[in-house]
Amino acid sequence: MLSLKNVQHYYNSATAVDLPDLILNSGSETLILGMSGSGKSTLMHILAGLLKPSEGLYTLNGTELYSMKESDRDQYRGRNIGIIFQQMHLISTLNVFDNLKLTQYMAGLKQDIGWIEQLCEDLDFTEKMKSYPDELSQGQKQRVSIARAVVNKPKLLLADEPTSSLDDLRSNDVIALLKDQAQKSSATLIVSTHDQRVKSHFSSVVNIDNIQIELV
Ligand code: ADP
Repeated sequence: MLSLKNVQHYYNSATAVDLPDLILNSGSETLILGMSGSGKSTLMHILAGLLKPSEGLYTLNGTELYSMKESDRDQYRGRNIGIIFQQMHLISTLNVFDNLKLTQYMAGLKQDIGWIEQLCEDLDFTEKMKSYPDELSQGQKQRVSIARAVVNKPKLLLADEPTSSLDDLRSNDVIALLKDQAQKSSATLIVSTHDQRVKSHFSSVVNIDNIQIELV
């Protein structure tokens, strides 16, 4: 279970991002919907264990991420949280296969080549396994970044604005792939977007528009 309670983040003395309380069951699928500037990326970074909130409590499966030492949190993230951000941050000097292998290695997990091959097949880029990120189309890079996010079989899968630059068909495909991969890992899936098209794919939608407060 994931729980977020009374969480606020102050980037500076003038503005706070005030986030909604969340209680999400393991394996659930949730869409965070909000306009640009409403706090979606802030929320996703907090959920990913990458941004310690100024106030409030975040627990994931009983673990309080921000009471851990940073190095422990990094290891916890590597093993339990898969992240798909807008900037894909694939390592340009490694081919696709090695990008995926490195993700297992960095989390201190045993290499599972069979699972990597299976993912490449599931996500339809087997023929690009030996290619470098610069040799891939945007769509292929995105599928590789989905594979990288699930390669360690995370319990939480986060995707920040995964459809913003895609046409309707590709947008539907990406959401279907995310849901499919989350189900295969029994992961909790959280997708954030400003894209109203995505709404119809989720039964649970949290709207975070207009939640910023101005500090006085
Ligand atoms: P969204 O992802 O919905 O576009 P963000 O979480 O990126 O929203 O931003 C929420 C608000 O937090 C923004 O309007 C901005 O004012 C503020 N903010 C985000 N990042 C920073 C930052 N690094 N420094 C200062 N303010 C920031």
